[in-house]
This record gives sequence, structure tokens and C-alpha cells, in this order.
Amino acid sequence: MMDELRELYQEVILDHGKNPRNFRHPPDANHEARGENPMCGDKFTVYVKLNDQHVIEDVAFEGRGCAISTASASMMTEVVRGKTEQEAKILFETFHDLCTKDEDEQCDHGPVDEEAMEKLMVLSGVRQFPVRVKCATLAWHAMNAAIEGEEKASSE
Ligand code: ZN
Repeated sequence: MMDELRELYQEVILDHGKNPRNFRHPPDANHEARGENPMCGDKFTVYVKLNDQHVIEDVAFEGRGCAISTASASMMTEVVRGKTEQEAKILFETFHDLCTKDEDEQCDHGPVDEEAMEKLMVLSGVRQFPVRVKCATLAWHAMNAAIEGEEKASSE
């Protein structure tokens, strides 16, 4: 990766890490799940408001974490808002591959929001750091657990 691009990526991550979007507890959220990454000390609760059409009307999070986990949680809330449950799951699975697998091993999980994936590319650098993978995927696991009605996210 070119140095300039790397710097830009770092800026995006630092910005979201310092000023996380949707860092709040929506009073009308009807799903929530906790996620914890003991290796780093990240701890989040993700809140989701699903409507009768299975559309994510609102998604937010609270908790404490490192810059990567906070940035990833913040970006997650931005890209899954307005998505259906199914679309959010596809994003989660595609993003998970982005963070854990080399390009030629990434699977097709279904029609994915390409624009969202482009935004999330900034986090693909974690692939080289297994501990950071857990930071980057923590809020996503919690979001997925929340829409599945589980209270606690497994980080596997
Ligand atoms: Zn972390």
C-alpha cells in the first residue's frame, strides 16, 4: 500500500476513534448485545432498533475500547443503519473475511453494499495483526448477536 493511502487510512481510524458516531444508548432500541475482547480490554454494548420489516432503524453503541475497536464500531453503526437484517449479516460476513482472510480466500456471502465495503477497507490492515482482528470485529459480532437475539457476542 502506498504511504499516502496508509496515512489517510490512519486518519480515518483516528477520527472515528476520537469522535465515535452514534455513541449513545437509544431509549427505543429493542435488541442489544455485549461484546468483550479481553486480549485488549475492549468492551462494548451494541443497541439495535429493528422494525417490523426487519430493517435496522437505529444502531448505536456504548462502552470503552482502543482506537481500532472504537473506530470499527463507529463505522459499523454508519453502514448498517437502514439495512435489513439480512443485508447487515452479509456486510458482517464480508467484513469479517476482509479482516481475516487474504483477498483470494474471501468468499461471496451475497449481494453486499459495495460503497460500505469501500469505507470499511480502511480497517483491512488489521489482517496482519491477529489481536487487532478481534478489536476490529468486536462491535460487528455484537451487532450480529443483537439481531439474532443473543445477549452476548462470541468473538469467534
Ligand atoms: Zn482493542
